[in-house]
Amino acid sequence: MHITDWLRHAKAVLVETGCPDPEIDARWMAEDVLGMTQFDLKFEGDREVTPVQLDRLNAMLARRAAGEPVQYILEEADFMGLKFHVDKRVLIPRQDTETLVEHALIALSRIGEAEALDLCTGSGCVGLSLKSLAPLANMTLTDVSREALEVARLNAAKLGLDVDIRHGDLFRAVGRQRFDLIVSNPPYIPHPDLADLQREVQHEPMLALDGGRDGLDVYRRIAQEAPRHLNPGGAVYLEVGIGEAEAVQALLKININCAETGIVKDLNGIERVVWAKAKE
Ligand code: GLN
Repeated sequence: MHITDWLRHAKAVLVETGCPDPEIDARWMAEDVLGMTQFDLKFEGDREVTPVQLDRLNAMLARRAAGEPVQYILEEADFMGLKFHVDKRVLIPRQDTETLVEHALIALSRIGEAEALDLCTGSGCVGLSLKSLAPLANMTLTDVSREALEVARLNAAKLGLDVDIRHGDLFRAVGRQRFDLIVSNPPYIPHPDLADLQREVQHEPMLALDGGRDGLDVYRRIAQEAPRHLNPGGAVYLEVGIGEAEAVQALLKININCAETGIVKDLNGIERVVWAKAKE
């Protein structure tokens, strides 16, 4: 079978099984198995696929057709220009979350040698990309899931980034330590909405998605406990789900003695990041 024939076949299977990005997914799997770039695939499409390659391609295709996200199949996701190992132990990094990193980074760059904390780190995508872009910051990454922390550790090693990774439920992982920046993309899907999530999302860890009855459970806890862990003038940056920004901003205002707070939209125009800066 020629590469182009397999790509055509894969696309047809993925269209038929209702996968949202059939062409991209087929191409990514082919690039991975054949060790080729998008450019190679285009110009060497008449190359024969070996039987071993064909078996691997079809095994991947079957998993994808059954609804498993392509990033789990390839065990890789791009985020902030970095490649992260991902598998079913962690949430797949989303492009929306780059908005969180970009804005937290602005805050970090003002402080320089900051103490910074990433709560609910999952794959480590937020904390590790911050460390890579602001190397002077001392980054601590925490998660309640030991499995997720194994992935975060793997990613820190893979990217050659020196960060402190600790297990524990939110701030319990850090004792009485205080920070200049606290950042988090916590679970925020309202519990009743979990059942309606896309087929692909159902493969991701529920613990990383379930935000309790109204989606705000983890924000309540972060907002209540943050004052005991913020240095004077320190800032909190939180990613929020659709329609949650105002409620989360209110939670931060009630709990933190704020000098300033704000809401930032993502590239789709959705209010995605809520931040608060404590008084000096
Ligand atoms: N911080 C990780 C991410 O942004 C994991 C988030 C989570 O588990 N809710 O992908």
